[in-house]
Amino acid sequence: MIRLRALLFCIVLIPASLLRGQSAPEAPVSPKAHAIQDSALVIDTHADTPQRFLDENFDLGSTDPNDIGHISLDKARRGNLGAEFFSIWVDPETNQGHFARHTFDLIDSVYEQAARHPDRMMMAFSVADIERAHKEHKLGALMGIEGGHSIENDMHLLRDYYRLGVRYMTLSWSNTNEWADSSGDINDSKVQHHNGLTDFGKQVVLEMNRLGMMVDISHVADKTFWDAIATTKAPVIASHSSARALTSAPRNMTDEMLQAVAKNDGVVQVNFFNGFIDESFLNAAKDQSEAQAAAVAAYLAQRKAEGKPVNYIEVDRIEREWMAKIPRPPLKSLIDHIDHIAKVAGVDHVGLGSDFDGVSGATPQGIDSAADLPKITQALLDRGYSAADIKKILGENLLRVFGEVERISREMQADNPTADRVAK
Ligand SMILES: [Zn+2]
Repeated sequence: MIRLRALLFCIVLIPASLLRGQSAPEAPVSPKAHAIQDSALVIDTHADTPQRFLDENFDLGSTDPNDIGHISLDKARRGNLGAEFFSIWVDPETNQGHFARHTFDLIDSVYEQAARHPDRMMMAFSVADIERAHKEHKLGALMGIEGGHSIENDMHLLRDYYRLGVRYMTLSWSNTNEWADSSGDINDSKVQHHNGLTDFGKQVVLEMNRLGMMVDISHVADKTFWDAIATTKAPVIASHSSARALTSAPRNMTDEMLQAVAKNDGVVQVNFFNGFIDESFLNAAKDQSEAQAAAVAAYLAQRKAEGKPVNYIEVDRIEREWMAKIPRPPLKSLIDHIDHIAKVAGVDHVGLGSDFDGVSGATPQGIDSAADLPKITQALLDRGYSAADIKKILGENLLRVFGEVERISREMQADNPTADRVAK
C-alpha cells in the first residue's frame, strides 16, 4: 500500500514537457518465455486486495472484463501466479484505537475468499503448502501484515497473528509506530522517533524469528533496517521495495542495504509502483502530491462531518484519478530495478513484490494485472537472463528464504519452546 503523502520530501517541480509519452510498442511474449513462466513456481509477496474484499465485497472469482483490479483467480491463472501474499494493511489514521480489530477483519476476509473457491485457491502457511498448492493447480493464499502497529505493542497479539497464518510483518508501514521508525515520516519533526528499533522492537524481531514469521523491512527507516539486520537470527525480506540508486524514493533501498540483505541471505522483492521505479514519475507524483492529499483530506472530512465510515475504495478512486494524470513509464523501468538488484545483491536475492491493488493503478506500461507477469519473464530473457535465474527471481529465492526462516524457527523453538526466555 502506498500513500502519496510519503513522497512529500524534497519536492521537485519539473515541466510536463519532460515527462515521457504514454504509449510504446509492446513486445509479444515468446513461446520460450511462456514455457519458463509455465514451469516456474511464481510467487508475489505483496497485494493489497484484502481492502477490496472487505470494503467492496470483491470476489476473487470475478471475471468482469471491466474490473480494474490487478488480482483475480482468472488473472492469476493467466499469469501462472502460484502464490500470493495478501497484505493485511490497517490504515493507522482511520483505525485508531482498534488496529487489532481491523487486522482480524482483514485476515478473515482472506479466509472467506479461500472458502468460496476451494477448487481454485487454498490457504497456505509454509513452503510445503505453497508447493502443494502449486501441484494442485491452486493459488496458494498467504498473508503478511503491513505495519507493526497492528500488534498494538503486544507480543501476545503477534503470536496470535502467527497462529492465524500471518507469515511476514513489515516492522512499520509509512507511519512510525511505538517501536520502529518508518521511512514515511522520518523527516517529520512532529513525530516521536526512536533512532531505529527500540529494545521492544528488537524483541519483536527475535520473537518473529522464533515463531517463523519473516521479518520484512519494506517501509522502515534506514536506521530501523540496520537495527533489524543486526538483530535478526534469520534471513529478512523486503516484501515490496525497489532500488534507491535508480529511483530516489526514501522507501527504496540503497546499494549498501541491498548488499547487507545479500550477506544476510535474504531477498528483496521489487515493487512495481511507478513512483518507486521511475524518477520522472516520482517527481511528477511529488509535484501533485499536495493537491492529491488535499482532495483525499476533503473526502475524509466530508465523511466525518456526515458521521459515516471511510470507504477505502472511494479514497482509492480519488488517488487513481490523480495517478492517471501522470504518463506511465515503460516496463523497462521495472526491469532496470530487477536487474540492478540482481547485479548489486546477486540473482539469488531478488524477486517480485508487485504491490498489486495498492498503487492506485500506477504500474508500468503493459503490466495491468497478474495476467501480465509473463511479460517480465520475456523482458528478463531479452536481457540475457537464463531460465534458471529467471525461475529464481519468479519465486525460488523467496521459497529458499522462507524455508530458512522455518528451519531457524524450529531450532529456536527447540531451545525456547515458549516465549518466556526470548520475549514476553
Ligand atoms: Zn506498502
